[in-house]
Amino acid sequence: MSQVADLALLGVTKDFGGHKAVNDVSFEVAPGEFFSILGPSGCGKTTLMRMIAGFEHPSAGDIVIRGQSMLGVPANRRPVNMVFQSLALFPMMTVGENVGYGLACAGISKAEAGPRITRILDKVGLGGFADRPVTRLSGGQRQRVAIARCLVLEPTLVLLDEPLGALDLKLREHMKLELKQLQAAFNTTFVYITHDQSEALVMSNRVAVMNHGRFEQVGSPRELYHHPATSFVAGFVGDTNIFSGEVTGARAAGIGIRLSTDVELAGSGSASGQAKAYLRPEAVALAGSVSELSALPNRFAGTVSTVLFDGAASTLVIRADKFPMLRATLPQAGPLAGIEAGAPIAFGFTAEALKVFSARGV
Ligand code: ATP
Repeated sequence: MSQVADLALLGVTKDFGGHKAVNDVSFEVAPGEFFSILGPSGCGKTTLMRMIAGFEHPSAGDIVIRGQSMLGVPANRRPVNMVFQSLALFPMMTVGENVGYGLACAGISKAEAGPRITRILDKVGLGGFADRPVTRLSGGQRQRVAIARCLVLEPTLVLLDEPLGALDLKLREHMKLELKQLQAAFNTTFVYITHDQSEALVMSNRVAVMNHGRFEQVGSPRELYHHPATSFVAGFVGDTNIFSGEVTGARAAGIGIRLSTDVELAGSGSASGQAKAYLRPEAVALAGSVSELSALPNRFAGTVSTVLFDGAASTLVIRADKFPMLRATLPQAGPLAGIEAGAPIAFGFTAEALKVFSARGV
């Protein structure tokens, strides 16, 4: 990165009595970036975040914020503020008192704090709410108070620990968009941890996929989705069909993989031996007959087993001889749009679309 990173982790490890919760992690976050750490429960996300915030100390490595090592700097002296899943608002206080709490702790006078509180509440869409008790707000409004309380202190870094986890699905969808817009409006660096891949993909400039204490891949949401570097990333990020099989060798384009159902497919990757293959439902081409798919190296005839109607995101479940059950995105227009269960169908896909990884360690 050409400019000084807002955050740099250099070989950070956290050892809990022989168990490395975080294992030699290095990355940089640029100013103004929305950077997410995505991984399953227990992969080490919270431990990593707690080390950045200063609540936990690394066993090895360094944490650098705007060029300054944070080793030995206590949590309350770091230019970092954190939004927790519980939000941790003070229920006996008003919106304004909650937002002003950190300013009062920092010794900022009421005369100076007042206009700052008003400005930040206006910016998060809560102008006029300063005197409202936080207990009389909706879940989304409470979320905005927590963000305002954090941003009013003008931290270099905002750390967000699954802040949408406690919200219902609909509000979560709405808050994803809102958080992204707030982050862009304030141009503040956000480091966000989540186990929800859709949150990470929708909001972030870059995402680190974490597994067993290590980063498997760091990239833009598009890179991770279209070019997963590991089997874990291919299976964890986005919806996908997963097949098991054995690599049969190199082909003119890509490699061959024989599935356990005894069908051989053309795939892409540099795997060998036992392998897993990943195919996105939207990468499956559908047609009325196999002859229409002659340009594709993988093409089969099957039957629609189920139509999972979900508007634009509808899916077909397809069964075919010697082929594992397959999910394919249903086209919204054309002759197949209204297809019903039981109808014959042809399907196919490119070798590039079938990502093959060695099964070792999967
Ligand atoms: P979740 O999404 O469930 O919160 P996570 O990815 O945030 O999970 P961590 O809380 O960082 O995971 O935990 C990573 C690993 O370290 C887990 O195996 C956990 O049991 C272990 N761990 C965390 N804190 C401690 C501790 N204080 N002492 C010992 N082991 C710990």
